[in-house]
Amino acid sequence: MTVLSGPSGVGKTTIVKALRERYPDVWVSVSATTRFPRPGEVNGVHYWFVTDAEFDRLVAEGDLLEWAVFAGNRYGTPRGPVQARLDAGVPVVLEIDLQGARQVRDRAPDALLVFVAPPSWDELVRRLSGRGTEPEDVVARRLEAAREELAAEGEFDVTLVNTDVDELCTRLVALLESPVNPSA
Ligand code: 5GP
Repeated sequence: MTVLSGPSGVGKTTIVKALRERYPDVWVSVSATTRFPRPGEVNGVHYWFVTDAEFDRLVAEGDLLEWAVFAGNRYGTPRGPVQARLDAGVPVVLEIDLQGARQVRDRAPDALLVFVAPPSWDELVRRLSGRGTEPEDVVARRLEAAREELAAEGEFDVTLVNTDVDELCTRLVALLESPVNPSA
């Protein structure tokens, strides 16, 4: 299992999309979230969009491998689908935040933790502010979280700097295929 983490706005969604095209064998987990869909986001594809009560139930029944509150919304990884792929020997990628990555590290110590870093802080601010899909206070909260996430880079096994998505994907595929990675 490979965890892909890093600050909001660093380009994880674009990386995952490119990775799926480049490496169709990979299975990327679909998280549950209480946040509202952005334009173009499809239930069951980008996320499982759930109510607060539904999320409570997932937590209570132990259905989440990990979960966290991020910028005022809850996000979690459904355990069953991940386990099914791991049992079938399919390489699994989780795209989750720092708090979730820490939980996976504790619960699945053989997972490979990959940190995606921006080329610079200014570039991250530019990308997050330029997204235009979130109000200013949400962007501010995400930048606050980003500072904390960047400070935790040392907790990860590998850092990939997102200067060029294609180049990053090449490195990521190499990691997924590496014999030291239990998900390979
Ligand atoms: P966004 O709202 O931009 O889609 O995601 C916000 C943050 O939540 C991102 O850092 C993303 O990686 C993280 N995230 C998405 N799904 C999960 C999940 O299942 N668990 C955790 N812990 N974080 C998640």
